[in-house]
Parts: sequence; structure tokens; C-alpha cells
Amino acid sequence: MLVETRSLDGVLDYAVPDDLDEQAAPGALVACPLGGRRVLGIIVSREPATHTGRLARLLGVVDIPPVPDDLLQLVLWVASYYRAPVASCLRLALPPGAEAALRQRGDGTWELRAPSEGRSRLVARAGAQEPATDRQRDVLASLTEAGGAMAAAELCRRAGTTMQTLRRMGDAGSLVLTEERSQASGLDWFPDASATAETGALQLVPEQAEAIRRVTAAIDAGEALLLHGVTGSGKTEVYLQAIAAARKKGLASVLLVPEIGLTPQTLKRVKERLGEGVSVWHSGLTATERVAEYRRIRSGEADVVVGARSAVFAPVPALGLVLVDEEHDGSYKQDSSPRYDARRVAYERGRLAGAAVIYGSATPRVETWHALERVALPNRADGSRLPRVEVIDMRTQRPGALSRPLERALQEAGDRGEKAIVLLNRRGFALMAFCRSCGWIARCPQCDVALVHHRESDRLVCHHCGHDESPRAVCPSCRAADIARQGVGTESLEEAVAAATPRSRLIRMDATTTSGRGAVGRLLDDFARPGPAVLIGTQMVAKGHDLPDVTVAGVVGADAGLQRPDFRSEERTFSLIVQLAGRAGRRGEPARVIVQAYEPEERVVRLAAGHGVADFLGGELERRHARGYPPFSHLVRMLVEGEDRQGVIEVSAAIGERVRHDHPELSILGPAPLHRLRGRTRRSLLARAGHASVAADALEAAATNVVAKADRSRFRIVIDVDPQDT
Ligand code: ADP
Ligand code: ZN
Ligand code: ZN
Repeated sequence: MLVETRSLDGVLDYAVPDDLDEQAAPGALVACPLGGRRVLGIIVSREPATHTGRLARLLGVVDIPPVPDDLLQLVLWVASYYRAPVASCLRLALPPGAEAALRQRGDGTWELRAPSEGRSRLVARAGAQEPATDRQRDVLASLTEAGGAMAAAELCRRAGTTMQTLRRMGDAGSLVLTEERSQASGLDWFPDASATAETGALQLVPEQAEAIRRVTAAIDAGEALLLHGVTGSGKTEVYLQAIAAARKKGLASVLLVPEIGLTPQTLKRVKERLGEGVSVWHSGLTATERVAEYRRIRSGEADVVVGARSAVFAPVPALGLVLVDEEHDGSYKQDSSPRYDARRVAYERGRLAGAAVIYGSATPRVETWHALERVALPNRADGSRLPRVEVIDMRTQRPGALSRPLERALQEAGDRGEKAIVLLNRRGFALMAFCRSCGWIARCPQCDVALVHHRESDRLVCHHCGHDESPRAVCPSCRAADIARQGVGTESLEEAVAAATPRSRLIRMDATTTSGRGAVGRLLDDFARPGPAVLIGTQMVAKGHDLPDVTVAGVVGADAGLQRPDFRSEERTFSLIVQLAGRAGRRGEPARVIVQAYEPEERVVRLAAGHGVADFLGGELERRHARGYPPFSHLVRMLVEGEDRQGVIEVSAAIGERVRHDHPELSILGPAPLHRLRGRTRRSLLARAGHASVAADALEAAATNVVAKADRSRFRIVIDVDPQDT
């Protein structure tokens, strides 16, 4: 019954018993036998059997609503566009972890249910008896301090004790321990989960009203739009009222955000405004909870889904609107298989479902700017002005993380009891080879991108075309013997900030401090507490948070990203500066934004400082057009890796030659060496064509041709369609 061309990757034929004939429609989830096991499958299509051999029979249809038809089409499209196994793409449409939850009930029917019903935890409360020892008294004190009830595991940690002690106290009656099912619906992402009162819509400014009119029209027409709104222009309010408009038409909405853990405030507002119908689709749920959310969404009980990139596959039956918030954010692209880009997938989903797709950002991507009709929110909703940006030429400053002006601004903000943000742009730091006196950067003569220093070989290498040269000791531009390769580290930055403003609390936001559930919310709450504070961190401090009272924002190493060997490095640097500047001076406070750069006269830095989004994107489009980069072409990257260094070098070279020979019309770069990864040699080939499928077909065919079947296990060959890091 299942017919697919890429047949070896998980699409199999089964016979359908007569009694299942009606239920076994495309999209239905089924239990089927596979190699002696019983596994979960999705019916892709019903066809007459294509071969005459004996077919295994379906065991049953799972008692859960089928995957909506447009979603089934969507994941099949993902498999073909991104060259990923069909099975791994079908999985995207299921509640995550569902496969492990397949169970047969006593009456022979099938359901999805995790082995242990939900996730329960041991909760401790004070008991009636007096504690027996001082140690136990301390435990109770910790418990009382935390409000009287706490997860036992957390209590152990806080009181510095063991589970054994808690059990002993439980037996003696000084503690009561109960198993409680944790409330892990999406709600505990919200800083204040209980506050779900419906709050009223804001009085719109005229531009917002116009934007909502356009979005509502797009819902009717099933069109895509770019909502280009400066930071603080009130895009969230537009999203909320657009979702409400869709709801009025009986249509559901999906709101995609870059990283669910980084956007507690947005989630809270959505929940407060839109009430019970909101579902948060995220990876923190147990399999059973995800199945429950799947049902809620599939049945229409929840008609608003909020989530990170995977929520683009939420099983919404009557989809009217997909919103992609902060559409410039790189996290929309998944960097493991299937390597889909949720922004591209959202577009396709909108097309299949006849839904509107709205991309929102203060700094849209070049591709979006080029392709879509735009709706602008050119002013801040509260009437405040965008802050003026001062660019500091770091070549005129003494060595160190902070320039004098930024140091002084932090000091003054601290003295006035105000808040500041300092962003350390980490992108590209260790890689750069630039002149400290004139700002010259070693670039590839053919590719217009910066060269990367490979420590192993001590060569500067172009990751696009493979060009390499030896590092220079003397700057070819100004003759100074002042070529540097490294930037500032987080620690030295923290020390410098602490020295500049000893009274301010320092709050560090990075991968370590934001890993736990709700961690970002707590950091932001801590930052918002009264009194002077500095929020320090990498890229994530610039992400869409609506922070009060920030009067100073600084970017350290603003143009470090320009060293990246990537044609998108200008775009990223631009977006970083504009986004960070947007975090300061909301609610009308006067604010200073200080950008430290080594090439302050660079076009990117100048335009970002002037909030010149349209100018910048216009120029980028011209540059990309001249060089044939996206959006004027598609790139497809092939990565060849393996332990056998010589083998990888030969195979990747042979694939490149093969493509050049068979497809002279294609542009192909490489193989270029990448850093070795876990002892594996890696080479990358980059093909460019008008259609992604043309480039992908050519690379796939060449690889199949070059690598003998017997050798397939020696090399890992990965295809990345529309790669974001090139
Ligand atoms: P953006 O996402 O565009 O950067 P937000 O949606 O976070 O901006 O809005 C910025 C601030 O402006 C928020 O505090 C929001 O409550 C406020 N705001 C939005 N729209 C209005 C409005 N029409 N009237 C008053 N305040 C508004
Ligand atoms: Zn120089
Ligand atoms: Zn090059």
C-alpha cells in the first residue's frame, strides 16, 4: 500500500485486513510488525499492492486521530526537499517520543501511552511531629523558607541532605512525602503560571491597525507577508490580535519563536490574552503529555500553538495563520537530520493549508526582504525614539575588553542605579586574522569572505573554495607588525565590567546559566529587580526580550563576526547591532548605545548604527545578485567525513570532479577543508543552482557514483540544502 521512490528508508508495503479497511486511511497511525517487533507507522498512501509476494498485515489502527492531510503532504515534501529519510520526516508529524508509547490494550486495540503514566515526583511538606535532630530542623527550615512544599529532590539539594534523611523524617512523621503528578503542561514555562486572566487588547497605533488589516486579508487569501517592525514597535500585539482574528474565522494559529526557553515573556502574554486554547509544543513534555497535547491540538480544543521550530509540524487541523517571530534567528534551521529550515517549511505549510504566513522581525533576512510583500511598523509603539548609536574605534583605545566611553557609561548608569546590557559577540573570535592598527582583514581573493586560521597547519584557509595561504606577520595594508588572532573572553569582560561598576549586580546569560527550564525567566526577573544591574552575555541577550529601564547597551567586538567565512556574516553583524540597540531606551528613557568595532567605517557598522535597515538590505541584495548568492540561487552543501584522512580527501575531490564533468552548467566550489571534528577529517563541497533540487541531485548522483557500495560505511556523507553556515 505504501509506494515511494526512496523506498529503502522506511516506507514499506503492508496488507490491510478487511476490518481495518475503513480506518486505514492516509495519515492514520498504525501498529505494524517489523523484524519481529511491533512498531508505530503512519499510512502514507493506499495503493494496490505493487508486488506479488506475501505481505505482512497491519496489526491495528491506533486510537488517535490521524495526521491531517496537509501535514502529511508537508513532511513528505520535507523528505524530498531536504533529502532526508521519509521515516525521520514522518516522525516530525507525531507527538515526539510517540514510538516508544505504542501499547496494546487488554481488548486488543492499540493506543499511545507511556509505560509510567506521566512523570510523577515526590513532594515534601512539613508533618505534625517535631523534628528529632538539628539537622532535621534545618531541613524543615529550608522547606518553610520555600513556602512549605517542595519537590523532595530539590529539598535535598537546598538543605544539603539526602533522600535517606527525608525518608527517615517521613517515617517519624516530621515530613509528609507524597507522589504527585507534575503539572508539566506547557504552562510551567511561564514565570507566573497561575496568572491566566484574560487581559484586554491594547489601543492600537495606526500602523498596527493597518498591519492587522493586512494580516487579516492575508488570512483570507492564504498569502505570506513580511512584518517589518522596528524593535519596540509592538509586533507582539499585532500577532495577538491577528491570532484573535483568525480564531473569529474559526481558524487556528501557530506562533513560532526562536527558542522556547528564551521567550518566557511572549509566552506569558499569549497565554494571558488567548486563554485556555493555547498549547505550548515543546521538548520538555513527557511522551504521554505530548500525546495529550497532540489530541488537544488535533481536535481543535487548542487552536493556538506556540513553540520553537518543530511546532511548524503541530497537528493543527484548520490552520489559518503561521507567525514566525524574529524570523532572522538562525535557530530556525535544524543542524541535524532532517536539516529543515522551519521558515521555509512554514511557507510550504501555508501553501498546502491555504494559510497566511507572517514573518516578523526588526532585521529581516535578505531572502525575506526580497521575496515578500512588506508591512511596516516604522515607529515604536510607546512613541519613544530609537536610541542614538555611538561607534567606538577600538584601534584608538588601549587594549582591553572595554573602551573608555563604554566603561564610563556603565559607571554612570551604576551610580544612577540604572541597568545596562553588555553583549560579547563571540562569533568568529578565535578565528580572526586582522590587523590591530588598521583593521585590515585577511580575505579570500576569490570569494570575498574572510579566511580562517587553521592552527594544526598554521594556514589561512577559505572555507568556500579551499584557497589557502600562510599567515602574514606584517599587515599588507599599513605595514604594521600587528596581526592579531584572538579577541576578548567572557571572563576578562566580566572582570572589566565589575571593575567599572562595582555597585551593579552582574547577571550572566549564556548556555550554562540558561539551560534549565524557566532559567531565562528567572535571570530576567533577577535583572528586573530594583537596583543597578548589568546583564552580560553572548548573542542571546539581544533576543527579543522586553526589558525595562535599560539605559546603556554595549556591544563588544561588534564586527568580529565579519571575520566569518560566510557570505551571511554582514547580515548577521548588522542584525546583532540593531537588535541589541533595540533593547535600550524603551519607555522613553534616554539611553546610550555604544558599539565597539575595529572597522567602524565598514558599511555594515555605519548602517547599523543609523538603523538603516532598508539601505543595508538593498545593498546586500545588490552584492548577492552580483555574486550569485541566495536569494538569487540556492546552495547545497555536501559534507564528506571519515577517519581515513586520505580517503576523505580523495573521495571529496572525486565527487567535485564528477559534478564538474557531468554538470558544467552548475557552479561548484571545493572541496574545502573544515576543522577536523573528533578526529575525523571533513571536506565540504558547495553547489549552487537556481533550484535546490538540481544541485542536490547532482551531488547525490556523483557521490553514489564515486563511493563504491563496499566503501559506504567508511565515509559519512551529509547533504545540507540551503545551509545557514557555509
Ligand atoms: P516588538 O516585538 O515589536 O519589539 P513589543 O511587541 O515587545 O515590540 O512591544 C514593545 C512594547 O510596546 C511593549 O511593552 C508593548 O506592551 C508596548 N505596546 C505595543 N503596542 C502598544 C500600543 N498600541 N499601545 C501602547 N503600548 C504598546
Ligand atoms: Zn594594518
Ligand atoms: Zn575562496
